Amino acid sequence: MNVFITGGCGFIGSHLAERLLARGDRVLVLDDLSTGRIDNIAHLIGMPRFDYRIGSALDLPLVTELVDRCDVTVHLAAAVGVRLIVERPVHTIETNVRATETVLAAAAKKQKLVVVASTSEVYGKSTQIPFREDQDLQLGPTSHSRWAYACSKALDEWLALAYAAEKDVPVIVVRFFNTVGPRQTGRYGMVLPNFAQQALANAPITVYGSGEQARCFGHVNDAVEALLRLIEKKEALREVFNIGSTEEISILGLAERVREAAGSTSEIRRIPYSEAYAAGFEDMMRRVPDVSKLERVTGFRPRTPLSQIIADVVTDQRSRMEGGSAGDWRLPASARSA
Ligand code: UDP
Repeated sequence: MNVFITGGCGFIGSHLAERLLARGDRVLVLDDLSTGRIDNIAHLIGMPRFDYRIGSALDLPLVTELVDRCDVTVHLAAAVGVRLIVERPVHTIETNVRATETVLAAAAKKQKLVVVASTSEVYGKSTQIPFREDQDLQLGPTSHSRWAYACSKALDEWLALAYAAEKDVPVIVVRFFNTVGPRQTGRYGMVLPNFAQQALANAPITVYGSGEQARCFGHVNDAVEALLRLIEKKEALREVFNIGSTEEISILGLAERVREAAGSTSEIRRIPYSEAYAAGFEDMMRRVPDVSKLERVTGFRPRTPLSQIIADVVTDQRSRMEGGSAGDWRLPASARSA
């Protein structure tokens, strides 16, 4: 299979590329290196079935050429990370919506299969746990930039399903829940790499808000497995799937587990949301996927235990810190001055 990955220098994209190459597929990556890093694919460059372009997923002629060369497009290019969304809302909305439009328009020319990556953020403030793909979305007001991300990804989903219905483009929509693993950077605020780096540096571990908010962290290898299985299934076409773990942990609990795994003496410090993000920031208390649809169609559900996930991330961050390539985590001002 020839697979085109937009955002292939990103965290999930680079793992997907690696896995496809390992099983004998050809991979073509496009990335503008805005949040992706060439380091993520450095070990793939020069491999016989691997090719990459540095360019924009908004560039229709380029995207059309690359979509045409492949059997499947996995569209992962997006503005990601809560921090980036709060800091650069215009960039987030424009990137997410225009890139998906561009990819779908290119795929429509020859009815090529497109997997559109969405996010659990689209469930918004829903408290209907676990989240099912067909439940109502519950977004906050337009005055809060966080919801712009959710809304931009929801629009991506609508666009994908509209291209399927109206132009017969084969599409699959996947909603990734908190996906973590080696190579994820803490630069954009993601909690687990941040905690691992803070713990390894014996610096304060910054828990935002009460720490009672909970998440389910899924291993990137499981996310890639789920994605690859969906691509093979006819029943997946024109459907939306949650991809994530169902093992839930509070953020305070996560901080403690990471500290222990890292053998760290870090203090765990609570930071108000207003300081971590911006005044009026709204967080979600719980976010658990219902993965029965994924399991029914593919026979697979993410199962890597959290202990294994934390161990993998701590090991990865340790080797990056020793190699001098980490240190991209953010410590709010109050934690720095103490
Ligand atoms: N968080 C935290 N400390 C950090 C980064 C994040 O306490 O250094 C919290 C964040 O407020 C949220 C949770 O961890 O409640 C998960 O954050 P992340 O940005 O990784 O993903 P989200 O689930 O918000 O998309």
